[in-house]
Amino acid sequence: MDNRINIRRDINDPSYRYKMDPVETIQKGRGGNTKTIITNIKDISESLETKPEYMTQFFSTELASRAWWNEEQKQTVIKGVFEESQIQDLIFKFIEKYILCPVCKLPELDLVVGTNDIEFKCRASGCVSRKNKSDRLISFIIKSSQLQKAQENANKKKNKKKQKQQQKKKEENENQNQNQNQNENQNENQNDSNLNMNFPDVKVNENDWSLDTSNEAQQKRLQGKICCWKNFASFCYLILQTLQLQRKLKDVSEKLSWNQTTRTLFVCELLFGKNMLEEIPQRKEVLSLLIKTKRAKLAVLGFIERLCGEDYPDLIEFVPHLVKAFYDQDLIEEEFILEWANQKSSKFSKQPTFDLVIEKAKPFVEWLKTAESESSEKEDDN
Ligand SMILES: [Zn+2]
Repeated sequence: MDNRINIRRDINDPSYRYKMDPVETIQKGRGGNTKTIITNIKDISESLETKPEYMTQFFSTELASRAWWNEEQKQTVIKGVFEESQIQDLIFKFIEKYILCPVCKLPELDLVVGTNDIEFKCRASGCVSRKNKSDRLISFIIKSSQLQKAQENANKKKNKKKQKQQQKKKEENENQNQNQNQNENQNENQNDSNLNMNFPDVKVNENDWSLDTSNEAQQKRLQGKICCWKNFASFCYLILQTLQLQRKLKDVSEKLSWNQTTRTLFVCELLFGKNMLEEIPQRKEVLSLLIKTKRAKLAVLGFIERLCGEDYPDLIEFVPHLVKAFYDQDLIEEEFILEWANQKSSKFSKQPTFDLVIEKAKPFVEWLKTAESESSEKEDDN
């Protein structure tokens, strides 16, 4: 059975369409700590299309007692002992004051909350009335409405911020991935250049007869230019070495119709960097396969002309060492070295370069001549 009551107590018509539950209260606590709890205020406020917080504030003002809305329990708690009928009276008073249109007395009001007052627009009659801040509940509604707006804005900002952060995070992740890729690329690049970076760690004999062994001179020698072709050649060599394709080189050069000289120069470019002095013994096996003919051997010497005379002028002092290294590894015999040293000019380098290279090679060439004559003398003795 519907025990709901009309929201207007001056109307007894049971068919009156605006109804609400009669208030239900309980009391808790003892003595000065007793509280009156409205257990069905949520339902009542919904029937009145208002908020329980507003009604609670109204009770507090009217009863001159502390009252609060317990969101968790959906209850209004009023400090003190109050009769249910007293609360019901207040609810009717609340309705009269804030729910009914002052003109048509219908509970059809829309509230437009401003900064200083509230506009009540009646959906039924269209009449508009205002209440200002001097009314304590109006003031409360304005304040809580502002608070709510602020809260909503804050939430919006928070959400926006959150979205931004998420977006940022996403971008950062993407960037990080990109950076990682870039770093990997950089590392690869670095590795590439590292191929040539191990460059001229040339061991210099303190008692050497042709080298300036001062730090300054060594540093100067170290600061050679690195040409792209050398980088590429080193890279190719690494691949060739790794894949053990050295033996295929002959086939390749034959397919490319390279003559002995061109092929030898290519091999030298491929095998040697500025660290050539150390690389000669290291690559002896490959070299012995590739440098067999007189033409090839002269081409290697021509390569030394270019490397030390033109590509890396800093290496000019290394000429005798390089030639000696080929000799020591049985790659170029003395007869070819002497023939090379006796040339008036070279097809591998320009005249002044060639003259300089031969001049630098002189100590070793002289030593070769001596060694040859000594061994000849020994042969003669026999
Ligand atoms: Zn009205």
